Amino acid sequence: MNNQADGLSGEQLGQLRRVLHCPILTPDDAEYEQVRHVWNGMIDRKPLVIVRPTSIADVIQSVRFARERGIAACVRGGGHSVAGKSVADGAMMIDISLMQEVQVDAGKQTALAQGGATWGVFDSESEKFGLATTGGVISSTGVCGLTLGGGIGWLMGKHGLSCDNVISADLVNADGNHLSVSATENEDLFWAIRGGGGNFGIVTALEFRLHELPSVHGGVMLYPRPLALDLLRQYRDLTLNAPDELTAYAALLVGHGHPMAAIALCHSGPEDEGAAACKQYQLSTPPVADMVGKKRYTEIQTMLDFSVPAGQHYYFKCPFLRELSDEAIQTIVDFAERMPTEQSQVVIEHMHGVASRVPVAETAFGLRRVHYSINIMPAWSDPSLAEKCIGWAQDLASALTSFGASDAYVNYLGDEGPSAVKASYGANHARLSSLKQKYDPDNFFRFNQNIVPAG
Ligand SMILES: Cc1cc2nc3c(=O)[nH]c(=O)nc-3n(C[C@H](O)[C@H](O)[C@H](O)COP(=O)(O)OP(=O)(O)OC[C@H]3O[C@@H](n4cnc5c(N)ncnc54)[C@H](O)[C@@H]3O)c2cc1C
Repeated sequence: MNNQADGLSGEQLGQLRRVLHCPILTPDDAEYEQVRHVWNGMIDRKPLVIVRPTSIADVIQSVRFARERGIAACVRGGGHSVAGKSVADGAMMIDISLMQEVQVDAGKQTALAQGGATWGVFDSESEKFGLATTGGVISSTGVCGLTLGGGIGWLMGKHGLSCDNVISADLVNADGNHLSVSATENEDLFWAIRGGGGNFGIVTALEFRLHELPSVHGGVMLYPRPLALDLLRQYRDLTLNAPDELTAYAALLVGHGHPMAAIALCHSGPEDEGAAACKQYQLSTPPVADMVGKKRYTEIQTMLDFSVPAGQHYYFKCPFLRELSDEAIQTIVDFAERMPTEQSQVVIEHMHGVASRVPVAETAFGLRRVHYSINIMPAWSDPSLAEKCIGWAQDLASALTSFGASDAYVNYLGDEGPSAVKASYGANHARLSSLKQKYDPDNFFRFNQNIVPAG
């Protein structure tokens, strides 16, 4: 499978236009420039051609066309892969983002999301019926891209990961065939896609279990940075005993030029319990801003959108720590004092509750345990700052190894390579690799956190 250096020939383009019934963009089209760009502005790649399926048939024909001609293909959903896995030079980009419908069945408490839906659409549609499931905390992230890698979010403590709520999926495999997968159909693929990323096919729809959620209690509170040590220690102590209903993140960031420390919370249980649980996270000194209260779930699901605008340059290092020792906290706070830009931040996510208790062999997601993901996220606009920003993130990640920092969530990996992917899957990697050999031995789907086919 080759990435093609030159464009498609006129004949090939004609053939493609005959089999597809959807927009096809080449570098000559004005829209091509806009669609090839993904969330991370640092990624600047030029696909050979961009196809934008509007039906399952288009997805099938795109895969068959690329396979038959030895053209590499990458798949773009919400475009949030920090490493830009959804766009590749010289490949056919199959941009599934026009397939973005979400249909809710309120009676059955399920939702069917098309392959290119975002969490913004998913949450708004579900909320019309007072229902929700675990999803990503930034509304422009793709439902499928996130769920296929696991899916952590505010409801993970009570309802598990996004992938734990998948009932069934439809996908187009590497042979260009459309398959249904569930607990009773293609069971091995059903296991693999719940954590195994886009390695096994292009998912055209995911069916989710929904849960009743009339409202939540949560929001963000901000403190001046000099209180960061106290805030993070208290955060650590409280999260040790957090109820499943409460998920809490902490962050060190800069707001309007002022270095800040923040707590972001979401409690999905009864209102009075939520209010009391969130109040515990306040320090005795009042916050400079307290935006915590009773909210619609979609308010919580969009409240952080402003902090990661598309188009800035980003780099992630997100190691896990099983414990937040005083020394680890001190190190994080010290590095935050030297943040390379005002757009940069460090976010600490507490993974716990049902998400950590599902048996590790039940789905492909590899890291079922209580831990903290330390998301070191430099961001910048001036390309000349790249080295400084990336170096800062790598130095902090490496400083945290002395406190036991190890593997990372597969959806937060950059270009760390096969050993990091293997570590993310832990005990599940060997089975995933065998299934990759069974379903995609030529590694057609390789623009992802790649699981190399066994043998
Ligand atoms: C700002 C930001 C916030 C995030 N927040 C969270 C969060 O709260 N929780 C969390 O768990 N993760 C989060 N993530 C990580 C996110 O889950 C991954 O980056 C995810 O892969 C993004 O999916 P996407 O469709 O938006 O991205 P894309 O870049 O389009 O795709 C990412 C990968 O998934 C594949 N893919 C996408 N759609 C499909 C499909 N339909 N079928 C097959 N393969 C597909 C692509 O080929 C690519 O390999 C966040 C990332 C960012 C940048």
